[in-house]
Amino acid sequence: KEQSPREVLALCRQREIRAIDLRFADFLGQQRHVTIPAEQLTEARFEDGFGFDGSSMQGWQAIHESDMLIVPDAQTAFVDPCLQNTLAILCNVKDPVTHQSYPRDPRHVARKAEMYMQSTGIADQANVGSDIEFFVFDSVVFDQNAHEAYYRIDSSEGEWNGDSDRPSSTAHQIRHRDGYLTMPPMDTLQDLRTELMLVLAESGVAVNSQQRATATGGQCHLDLKAAPLQRAGDHLLRLKYLARNFAARHGKVATFMPKPVFNDNGSGLHLHLSLWKDGSPLFAGAGYGGLSETAMYAMGGILKHAPSLLAFCCPSTNSYKRLIPGFEAPVNLSYSYRNRSAAIRIPVNSGDEADRRIEFRCPDPTCNPYLAMSAVLMAMLDGIQNRISSGKPLDKDLYDLAPEERRDVPSTPATLEHALAALESNHDFLLRGDVFTPDVIENWVRFKRSEEVDALNQRPHPYEFALYF
Ligand code: GLU
Repeated sequence: KEQSPREVLALCRQREIRAIDLRFADFLGQQRHVTIPAEQLTEARFEDGFGFDGSSMQGWQAIHESDMLIVPDAQTAFVDPCLQNTLAILCNVKDPVTHQSYPRDPRHVARKAEMYMQSTGIADQANVGSDIEFFVFDSVVFDQNAHEAYYRIDSSEGEWNGDSDRPSSTAHQIRHRDGYLTMPPMDTLQDLRTELMLVLAESGVAVNSQQRATATGGQCHLDLKAAPLQRAGDHLLRLKYLARNFAARHGKVATFMPKPVFNDNGSGLHLHLSLWKDGSPLFAGAGYGGLSETAMYAMGGILKHAPSLLAFCCPSTNSYKRLIPGFEAPVNLSYSYRNRSAAIRIPVNSGDEADRRIEFRCPDPTCNPYLAMSAVLMAMLDGIQNRISSGKPLDKDLYDLAPEERRDVPSTPATLEHALAALESNHDFLLRGDVFTPDVIENWVRFKRSEEVDALNQRPHPYEFALYF
């Protein structure tokens, strides 16, 4: 429901709010915050914003121009169930001198993607439903300064370290890849997931369901109802925040790392996508899987640009440890009805046209949701504008393709470096409408390469100790 600044102020009075937590997404998609006494939030502040130092965050402003503005967006306000008498609001980031939006503000990129879509006349709304998985461990111990990069993760279901592929035995142990929809007491996190589902709904983020996912180590799955693109990004930020805090309340730790446990399923962030115009679903039709021609071209755009898209959708070195055969994560760039081994699955349709959608399964929860979703929308629009063929569906287990069949199906990039190189050589479709600026793309590639790819490659890995010590 739309919320005006005046309504937000009324909510503050009604709920006896004493502090306002001003939040924003940084370049990588992590939330940051500054807190002010409630009296300081006035209607004018929804225009004028609040000053902050934008220099001390990874990938943002240079120190000589560090003064920035955060301007609260009334739509995003909610009473924070984790803090006392606090209202949380997401902010847009602006330049205090020109009052222009900051090009590296990911939320602004998402807004521009929506505006560009509207300017093409193709659609007026892009809806994104998010299927997100994450692990909740009892504890994690790691020392990133130690030469050997030691880590150990514990769960009531067992214990791992970098080298063991099985948790130690417990009475109600879940075996690898065998946790899907298991009941308590094997499933130890039912209450935590329900609490999270209800608190999200109360804060205005509708959830379709919560489930025990497949992996050992308390893998959780929440399925968020579709929302317009920028709003869907806001919802994911809120989900991550609440999941981490509710896990902490239970003395546990939630992680959105895509592949924390060797030889078991990883965590995906599957995007359920549909475009709308004048209230009509553009993806519903009479073609393959109940899809329209528009949807087929949208898939063509995603498949063509997938290697570049993955630089935003699977932006961690760990992401590529998830994209391997055998763990319900996609490894081939193809589409298919009901098929979880394809990069794009067309979910079985209920007959309801409003529900017709495609599911892009590559993204994972380390992505900055605003940048990932915007890039995917730009690829879909390119597919529709240029009538890019999505090829033939591959209705078989793509993990089991014969070598001669595999030759014709492109694979997902093997590493983050491969995806970054693809983005460097193919990003014109992202620059349209000034949605992604060259600065954002260059800065992203530079940052990811130096701070993550190279930083990892230069360090001894725990498994190297097993192999070579
Ligand atoms: N965990 C899988 C992934 O990495 C998805 C599991 C599912 O779709 O049920 O994407």
